[in-house]
Amino acid sequence: MSLPMSFDLEGARVLVTAGASGIGLATARAFAQVGARVHVCDVDEVALHALGTSDATLGRSTCDVADRASVARLFQDVVGAFGGLDVLVNNAGIAGPTARCEVLDPEAWERTLAINITGQFHCARLAIPLLRQSRNASIANLSSAAGRFGFPLRTPYAASKWAVIGFTKSLSMELGPDGIRVNAICPGSVAGPRIESVIANKAAARGVAPGVVRDEMVNKASLRRMITAEDVAHAIVFLASPLGANISGHALPVDGDTQSLV
Ligand code: NAD
Repeated sequence: MSLPMSFDLEGARVLVTAGASGIGLATARAFAQVGARVHVCDVDEVALHALGTSDATLGRSTCDVADRASVARLFQDVVGAFGGLDVLVNNAGIAGPTARCEVLDPEAWERTLAINITGQFHCARLAIPLLRQSRNASIANLSSAAGRFGFPLRTPYAASKWAVIGFTKSLSMELGPDGIRVNAICPGSVAGPRIESVIANKAAARGVAPGVVRDEMVNKASLRRMITAEDVAHAIVFLASPLGANISGHALPVDGDTQSLV
């Protein structure tokens, strides 16, 4: 589905982390569609390279957002390409392990937190001085429905996504006087390969068929469906546009009115 109207983002300078696939790529494409200049980073060099053919207008950097030095190199690329920044989309996040807390691999816990929340800090701290120079500056941090509800067997993911909301609300208060908006987006289950692997892991952990987990998931949303990556992308574009000029400090669900995760 294409965006129907002008969002007044022509020439806006946008950085989307983990933009080589999924929500990140849909978001990069949505910004490009409304005339923004878009740079993406990703840890997956093969997927990033493929964008050279499918999405040649997107700037690209290899980056692991959990690695501060790697993020520093990313921002050198962004400043080199754009000379500044108007929009940061902190999208990178992994599902993390599925297991009861007492048997979780501590390294998998640390890796989930390192990417999902510390990675957002790594990017925000370098973006803020650039955003202060912009006349329409904003940050979108990807949280999740798991940042609003308890999510048994996924404690590292839920902890990281609740942390994103605390980070967002606090940063919105810090940066509001500088005219920089900061919002979190809380997607529900996005149809696609990522959610299928989450479903498979959860089904295996519970000893039930994947279809059971999928049906339960869909029935938790009032609209009785999963969302699309484009649904999330369009909400992010709206918030970054002048139409969202007075919206900051929120955690916006894009989830078909999900009522719980269990
Ligand atoms: P995805 O699994 O499709 O992965 C997107 C990209 O992230 C991949 O290209 C991957 O290479 C990249 N990536 C992974 N680790 C990285 C790192 N350390 N540094 C840079 N890039 C890295 O993800 P998605 O489903 O599009 O999710 C995007 C964001 O939305 C995440 O923060 C996720 O937690 C959140 N989210 C997703 C869903 C969903 O159902 N898909 C639901 C709620 C929230």
